[in-house]
Amino acid sequence: MKLAGQLEAQPEPATRCSWCEREIPSQSRAFAISVSLRAEAFQEVVPGTEERLLLPKAEKQVRMIILPSESPAKRSGKDALFPLCSDRCAGALQSALREELGSAPNEPTQPTH
Ligand SMILES: [Zn+2]
Repeated sequence: MKLAGQLEAQPEPATRCSWCEREIPSQSRAFAISVSLRAEAFQEVVPGTEERLLLPKAEKQVRMIILPSESPAKRSGKDALFPLCSDRCAGALQSALREELGSAPNEPTQPTH
């Protein structure tokens, strides 16, 4: 049973795998990939929400969670997190991301500090 009416603690949304969309049982959420986004991409997303990232090469849309600004990963330069259900999905997403990012011409990767 849960108490209703407590707004500060958001109900944890069912986490789904970024790659295969399968629901991830909370006791086995072992995999996640975090990434940095470009500043201009970040203007279109809201921290703490779930967004979709289009991977044209893989012909796929994947889920990503935009990290809230107070999260520790955010402080170490990561902006978004991809929850994953398994090793296999992690590998598939990783290579898809690499392919996308690797093909981006002149990726502006200037650290602000
Ligand atoms: Zn999966």
